[in-house]
Amino acid sequence: MKKVVKFGGSSLASAEQFKKVGDIIHADESRRYVVPSAPGKRFSEDTKVTDMLYGCYETAEKGKSFGDLLEKIKERYNEIIKGLGLELSLEEEFKIIEKQFKEKAGKDYAASRGEYLNGIIMANYLGYEFIDSAEVIFFKEDGGFDADLTNDVLGKRLSTVERAVIPGFYGAFQDGRVKTFSRGGSDITGSIVAKAVSADMYENWTDVSGFLVADPRIIHNPETITTITYKELRELAYMGATVLHEDAIFPVRKAGIPINIKNTNKPEDEGTMIVESTCRQSKYTITGIAGKKGFVSINIEKAMMNSEIGFGRRVLEAFEKHGISFEHVPSGIDTMTVYVHQPEFEDKEQQVLADIHRMTDPDHIEVETDLALIAVVGRGMRSTRGTAGRIFSALAHANVNVKMIDQGSSELNIIIGVKNNDFEKAIKAIYDIFVLVQI
Ligand code: ADP
Ligand code: ASP
Ligand code: MG
Repeated sequence: MKKVVKFGGSSLASAEQFKKVGDIIHADESRRYVVPSAPGKRFSEDTKVTDMLYGCYETAEKGKSFGDLLEKIKERYNEIIKGLGLELSLEEEFKIIEKQFKEKAGKDYAASRGEYLNGIIMANYLGYEFIDSAEVIFFKEDGGFDADLTNDVLGKRLSTVERAVIPGFYGAFQDGRVKTFSRGGSDITGSIVAKAVSADMYENWTDVSGFLVADPRIIHNPETITTITYKELRELAYMGATVLHEDAIFPVRKAGIPINIKNTNKPEDEGTMIVESTCRQSKYTITGIAGKKGFVSINIEKAMMNSEIGFGRRVLEAFEKHGISFEHVPSGIDTMTVYVHQPEFEDKEQQVLADIHRMTDPDHIEVETDLALIAVVGRGMRSTRGTAGRIFSALAHANVNVKMIDQGSSELNIIIGVKNNDFEKAIKAIYDIFVLVQI
């Protein structure tokens, strides 16, 4: 048995947390490859080391003095080293980092040091070999992840190493420049390592006992999902259930390696198994609910739109031209609505609207801001009638005005648009009707 174990920021925020992680690793000798994140928050108002690094580098880039900020970061690590009683000094590493910051080595290099340094501590604490991810995880010149080269180099390197620590979140271009994944990207590194060593299991250790039916910051003490498919998880992760990065499933999915989400603070809890496919029914009609705020809808009306070939393409072209990706496009006979991310759209609003006018000559365009999208996801929905009806009635009872409802063609999800202000209320209403009332 070979397991890859990834530990998130809160699992490694202090020496006390590091000790829990050490106990977990030692409890099972198949936990051979360890992927650490940077130290996260120790308490809710605390700052993650990754954010401290971004802040420090921004100051350095402006040419201002950043010594104090770097010192605070050093203190976070020294506190862990001291608490663990290790004979380790990061002085030399910090000298290099300071020099690189002065030479403006880049934002990605700066952020990656969070995982890099935590990896050095972890390897020292466990007595495992440290492998710098910049030597084994590669990006292509266009910024995309180079899966083939990585799998080749990383696979070969790890085939000769019994136990190792490989820091999460970053890799490098072939010329050595460091690049990170997007935020939360250590989850992706764990998955890449699992694939490279053909692991039997990828354990992802965090601060909750698995994937929960809804965001615990919105629903008090939500139920845990015991088994979820990769597809369901991707839908939920993309829509804001950040417990696992939405791209983390790709490497393991191809190799059929299951992911187990576990809680570092409650290792005895079973957590959530993420699998390709399962005959295990979920306990409720739905598997989970997630959502995001901050969307805009652009509603375009034109009589007889349905018979005008190429209308939809021209509308979407106006967004494409300005580099704006669309989220959903529900349409009727004479109307078409495009949902986009508000921050992406705001700056280019007038240019996009002018282009839509020019390219499609509509009767009327209306923009509505401050919208939220909620995804209700479940493999059980395909075989259950009336799911959309139940959602509607729950939202009507809660006095939530539904702006849009769209069932994905996979019948795996239903997307609902509401005002930002109604977001939490809508999630509670949907959770209650499916999980608490179970009618
Ligand atoms: P880590 O630092 O371990 O990577 P993250 O902060 O990235 O952890 O993810 C775990 C957090 O995700 C939880 O503490 C929780 O607040 C949040 N979260 C949001 N939606 C969900 C969900 N559906 N299930 C579990 N956690 C969720
Ligand atoms: N430390 C990085 C972040 O805060 C990556 C991660 O935690 O997965 O986004
Ligand atoms: Mg995370």
